[in-house]
Amino acid sequence: MEKLAAGIAEGMALPQRILFPPQKICMDWQQRQRPGAGLCNLGSTCYINVILQCLTYTPPLANYLLSRDHSQLCHQQGFCMMCIMEAHVRKVLRSSANAIWPRAVVRDLKFIGEEFEPDMAGDAYEFLRCALEAMQRACLSGSSDEDISSQKTTIIHQIFGGFLKSRVTCLRCQAVSDSYKAFLHVLLDIKAPSSLNKALENFVTPKNLDGKYCLKCSKCEKKVTASKRVTVHRVPKVFTVCLERAADHTGRKISKIVEYPEYLDLRPYMSDTAGEPLLYSLYALVVHSGDTCLDGHFFCYTKASNGQWYKMDDESVDNCGIHAVLRQQAYLLFYASQCGASNDQAGSAGTYGQPGRTMSMDCQRTSARERIQSRSLQWDNDHCRWFMNSTDFNNSTGRKRKRSTPPGRDHAVKDGTASGPFNRSCQWSPVPNAAWTVCGDHRLPPVSEEEELVEKKPSTL
Ligand SMILES: [Zn+2]
Ligand SMILES: [Zn+2]
Repeated sequence: MEKLAAGIAEGMALPQRILFPPQKICMDWQQRQRPGAGLCNLGSTCYINVILQCLTYTPPLANYLLSRDHSQLCHQQGFCMMCIMEAHVRKVLRSSANAIWPRAVVRDLKFIGEEFEPDMAGDAYEFLRCALEAMQRACLSGSSDEDISSQKTTIIHQIFGGFLKSRVTCLRCQAVSDSYKAFLHVLLDIKAPSSLNKALENFVTPKNLDGKYCLKCSKCEKKVTASKRVTVHRVPKVFTVCLERAADHTGRKISKIVEYPEYLDLRPYMSDTAGEPLLYSLYALVVHSGDTCLDGHFFCYTKASNGQWYKMDDESVDNCGIHAVLRQQAYLLFYASQCGASNDQAGSAGTYGQPGRTMSMDCQRTSARERIQSRSLQWDNDHCRWFMNSTDFNNSTGRKRKRSTPPGRDHAVKDGTASGPFNRSCQWSPVPNAAWTVCGDHRLPPVSEEEELVEKKPSTL
């Protein structure tokens, strides 16, 4: 098989700056305690409450938010989703009240997503998507001039982000073309699959692109039938999955039970299936109850820092066992990686800027100065080492670089869809609708905006 796109994958740029060093991500709870407060429903805000609860019990995110590192350095005027989440998580986990009102989130709902209204029901997956994007925008405020690869090194991408690889093979001449795309969550088709593992198998099974989806092969110089295979190329620290329960656009719901394990191995769904298992453990899930997608109710199950599972249904927080957790009509599933940062695989397939063996897990609190400096830590590919970019921070004040653009949604970065120096394969001319229909960004405008990011790993460690 002739590999036409080999040079493209090898020539991909490393991020110019690591906005959040992955070795600072702490996957284990820094504080153990009973679960925090429930969340009052302000009318039809259960879809918001479940996502807030699942994010609150995401250990690496909660550890970071509880450290207050963000707000200490935040210069954002007005709406900042990271500041809002920091205050929210603190309030939920520190409050002695049984339930609190998530007022700030509801107040700023329109900044999180224009489609949301406080007195209208919404979709939990849509809210998760928008909340992550809003946090990503907050992390990039003041860094809006970063290259596209650097934008994928915020704490949000370091926690939730991975890369998908799409390999398109011309079935006539066997030429192949690879492209890569960042994701923060994955949407899985469950029409046929009866379990998460089967849905993931289905996800990585090659699909034929023909008819209106056919592509033009530049070698054959005509439209051909091609085969496309999507695989997980780099695993995230937190793997977030939506089981697509909308049967169609009418609101009809796929209500069947889809089995999901407490421990999930992502290795079989990787581009490289050889190697150690990549184990994940379930720590939160969102359930939709109701006969259609247009009505019903959302509640969730989360594992608190004390290791116990709780059913969280708006104001109520009730202890439950793992057996109850694994028997739900799950809609969203949250899995946390069990692989340590020193794990070679986590180094090569985990996140940007993590050369595995050379950096160890560092969960300790650091001084503000060190934290600022670490934001400017860069991987020097020529010398195969980390170095500090002293031009990126102000030595005398220890302050982050000043914002160069005003706050706002103008420079919003949608996951994997922002323009940038991506490496689109020159071998294929995608025709309309030949979109990535299987990844988390399915609701965004399709294809010609399909974006490819190819990473380049350090050649030696
Ligand atoms: Zn902020
Ligand atoms: Zn061909």
